[in-house]
Amino acid sequence: MIDLNLSANEQKRVGELAAENLRQGSGLSDLTKRLQEEFSWDIYRAIEVGGFTLDTIRMELLLESYREGGQTMKYWRTSTNPCPVCAKNSGQGLPLDDTFPSGDKLPPVHVGCRCVVLPFRLS
Ligand SMILES: [Zn+2]
Repeated sequence: MIDLNLSANEQKRVGELAAENLRQGSGLSDLTKRLQEEFSWDIYRAIEVGGFTLDTIRMELLLESYREGGQTMKYWRTSTNPCPVCAKNSGQGLPLDDTFPSGDKLPPVHVGCRCVVLPFRLS
């Protein structure tokens, strides 16, 4: 997991704003505006933190949906041309709550990470 250099309070507030944004379906540009207003960040910082936080919440929700659907295993699928950290995670199935070789339970592990975790079925 990358370090976004957020204080605990900032992290909490960004998480709240991102969750609200997802509930309303209002999108990254809307969240970016809110973050810029609230923290006086430039657009790049707001997109970096906002995008990463939205992706993180989406992945957590996805994992929960696997659990609710009775899945017990997950695997990491990289996008094309993954970074070395993500490439290490690719492939093998793990129990839903286990940690991949990078030390992460879920993507994203860096800004711009396009990896996903999918249900792993033994067949
Ligand atoms: Zn990745």
